[in-house]
This record gives sequence, structure tokens and C-alpha cells, in this order.
Amino acid sequence: MTAAPATSTASLAIRSHDPGYDAAVATFNTAHRPRPDLVWEARSPDDVAAAVRRARAEGLPVTVQATGHGIASDLAGSLLVSTRHLDDVRVDPGRRVAVVGGGATWTQVIAATTPHGLAPVCGSSSGVGVAGFLLGGGHGPLSREFGVGSDHLRRALVVTGTGELVDTDDDPDLLAALRGGKAGFGIVVELEVDLHPVTRLYGGGIFLPGEAAPEVLPAWRDWVTTLPEHASSSVALLRLPPDPSLPPPLQGRFVVHLRFTTTAGADDGAALLAPMRGLDVEPIADMVGEMPFAAIDAVHADPTDPMPVWDASTLLTDLPDAALDALLAVAGPGVETPLIMAELRAFGGAITRGPDLDSVAGRDAPFALYALGPMVPELAGVVPVVVPGVVDALAPWSAGVLPNFLGAARAGVIGRAWDDATLARLLATQRRVDPDGLFRQVGTRVGG
Ligand SMILES: Cc1cc2nc3c(=O)[nH]c(=O)nc-3n(C[C@H](O)[C@H](O)[C@H](O)COP(=O)(O)OP(=O)(O)OC[C@H]3O[C@@H](n4cnc5c(N)ncnc54)[C@H](O)[C@@H]3O)c2cc1C
Repeated sequence: MTAAPATSTASLAIRSHDPGYDAAVATFNTAHRPRPDLVWEARSPDDVAAAVRRARAEGLPVTVQATGHGIASDLAGSLLVSTRHLDDVRVDPGRRVAVVGGGATWTQVIAATTPHGLAPVCGSSSGVGVAGFLLGGGHGPLSREFGVGSDHLRRALVVTGTGELVDTDDDPDLLAALRGGKAGFGIVVELEVDLHPVTRLYGGGIFLPGEAAPEVLPAWRDWVTTLPEHASSSVALLRLPPDPSLPPPLQGRFVVHLRFTTTAGADDGAALLAPMRGLDVEPIADMVGEMPFAAIDAVHADPTDPMPVWDASTLLTDLPDAALDALLAVAGPGVETPLIMAELRAFGGAITRGPDLDSVAGRDAPFALYALGPMVPELAGVVPVVVPGVVDALAPWSAGVLPNFLGAARAGVIGRAWDDATLARLLATQRRVDPDGLFRQVGTRVGG
């Protein structure tokens, strides 16, 4: 452990009346309007350590934000460390690793790695921050083949609650906590992640009429269990907005969005996808084809502009017809609902096999459900009820919580993600690296 040197801090601290406050606290998920007492725009690990010292001096809890994709509260009364300027990415193609700043996004990592023919295990949307994603495990289209994102976290530099800069090479318990333990272990200022020799995918999405959901969902459930580990899929019931930037047949439409990727190439990919293309359902659009890895966001086509959303999720033990019926009853065709999306992801494969040292929750769950609604003022009384209601409808098949997709409504249940032994280990690590509970308000932190 080394004490980080003192830094001149005056220009880093922004209060709510200062110019630049709104930009510094801006979030992807605008359902939460952050209002920390103080924002600290960190530009180096030393700045982060200075922020922690300042928080201790002022008696403020510390919160952390890179992109605001995972914000789950308004961060009121905290000192918010914005890591968004810690976005350096260095690639060592020989070792197949990227060294990434604690505020970098996957977009920045992919831009740096793909020219070397290398790819990270990122998620469905590359606008998400690397640190926030890996701290929750991190499931993405490559995960069935290579494991979750945090399986490839080799090392991190962390500023702890005492303001020390710790290298996880000297603290394997801290590395184990950062691999999926989610929050409360300090501020990650640098990470080293493994890369994979993936340059192209056969993948994309097929949009089918929403009315066909009762036929498509059981067929998808049966089909995904036959896929090899190099192939991955999810399916979403999407209520698309009347957005003129969408292709006209999709504007304002209720659709089933089937997503598929494989690293095996076009011939094998098309053969694997053939049973779903062979359903007796006319697609609205079939956008699956060969693509560079760098285009991976096109598979899920998640929104890229900030928007106010309320979300909830659960892992699932299995997906019998009764579970699909329960989902269709709350999110299927003919249901009047403000939901934007109810998504099923198929897991399995390498996700079930982690390193010895980690904290990833729910590896054995074969499926996950994720629901999302628009948190606009006119629906503010409805959406926080409807969205968790989708998850509750599948409660008989719940296999616990997925830390990265908890959402604000269920943030309090994060402790249920882990077995007792893992939870005890995470809490012990938290007490060690943050003895005064400085990070107790950080995101969805186990231990409250
Ligand atoms: C459109 C969209 C798509 C998504 N797709 C996926 C997906 O495919 N797979 C998946 O697993 N997840 C996915 N997520 C969830 C996402 O991984 C989490 O919300 C993640 O926490 C976001 O991290 P962030 O840094 O972008 O967000 P932020 O809101 O900035 O951070 C969220 C939390 O991460 C922690 N954090 C962030 N940076 C640091 C740091 N440097 N040090 C310590 N703690 C830190 C803090 O607890 C913080 O509260 C998605 C979310 C959205 C909105």
C-alpha cells in the first residue's frame, strides 16, 4: 500500500451554485437528478485520493459516477467523485490486455482494441462504464463463450476509504470483491482487463410482430438451450416509440426483438439461427448478418441518448410455459402497459465457470429477466409499480438478483445476490478497506 500524495484541489470541487455543476452530475438515466453537496471532477488517481481526504474532513459520504447508467438514487448530501475524465485506454496487444482508466467506457476501449484484432467482454451497450459494469460481474454477448466481464479483470488500482491507493496485486481479497461484489470497496482508478481475439461477429436483431410473442417465446426458450457456447441470444418484448429515426415499419410498433451473436462465422451462424428464421412468423426486419465486432451495439440497439428509466430484474431458475404465460400476461400483446421493454437473456456456457477468486452472483441461473419503463412525470405514479410487477409476476422462478440490473426499486435487496459465505467475505473486505463507512451511499452497495 502506498499513500497517494497531496494534490492542489481548488479547481476540482464544484458546488451546486457553481457553473459546470449540471454538466458534472449529468447522468444517462435521467430518472434520478443527482444533487450531491460537492462534485469532484477527478483527473488523476491523486485527485481521487484528495477527494476522499476532503470528504473525510467535511464528514461527507462519498459516491461515484462515470456515466450515470447505473444511478439508483439522487446522491443527496454526498461528495460525488466524477471519474468521467479518467478515461485513458492503453492496449498491450502482445499480452492481450487493456489498461483502462476508472471512468472509461466500453466505447473507448473497443475503439482502442479493435484495430489490434482484439475485443473485450462488454455488455449490450458500449456507452456503459467499464468499472461499473465489471463491479457487477457484467454479462454481454460474448459471455457464454468467454465468461462474464469480471472474469477478465486481472488487476485494479483502488483508492480506499482511508485515501490509500491499493494495487490488487497486493490485495487478492479486494480483487475478489471487485469481481462482481458491486459497490462499497473504494474508487477504482485503473483496471487491467483481458482481451480476446474476436474481430467479427455474425449477429444482429430480428424484429417480429409483437402479436407473435406467444409463439416466439416458447420456441426461443427451446432453441437457446441447444446453442453452443460461441452463440448467444436474448429476446425482448419492445414497445417502440413513434420515433422518426427508426425505420418506418418499426415506428410506434409493439415487437418481439430476437438478438443473436456468434463468433463462429456466417455459415455456422446462419445454420444455428435457421430454426428461429423458420418459424411461421413474417419478420418485420431481419438485421442479422456479418459485422465487425466494433458494431456490437447494433445487436441490442439499446438507446444511446440519456432518458429517464425505471428498471428491475431477476435471475430465473428456468423458464417453463407457466413462466412465459406469466410474462405474457403482464407484458404481452393486448396488455395496456407503459413498459418499454421486458427482456429475457439466456445465460449458461462459460458464465457458469468463474475464477477461484471472485464474487459473481447467480452463475448457475440459465435466464435473466429485465424490465424497463419510462419515468416521465405523467407516469411517475404508475411505472414504479408496473416495472417491479413484471419481475414479481415471475417470482416463482426467481433465482436471486443480478447486481448490474437491480434498478432503484430493488436496490435494497442486493444482499440476496450472494450466498452467506460470499456475503460475509464481501462485508469483511468492505470493513477493511472502508472502516468508517465513507462509501455507504455508493450505488447499490451490499450492507447498506
Ligand atoms: C442501456 C444500458 C445497457 C446495459 N447493458 C448491460 C449489459 O449488457 N450487461 C450488464 O452486465 N450490465 C448492463 N447494464 C448495467 C450497467 O452495467 C450498470 O448499470 C453499471 O453499474 C453502469 O456503470 P456506469 O459506470 O456506466 O454507471 P454509473 O451510474 O456512472 O455508475 C454506477 C455505479 O457503478 C459504480 N462505479 C462506477 N465507476 C466506479 C469506479 N471507478 N469505482 C468504483 N465504483 C464505480 C458505483 O457504484 C456507481 O454507483 C446496462 C445499463 C444500461 C443503462
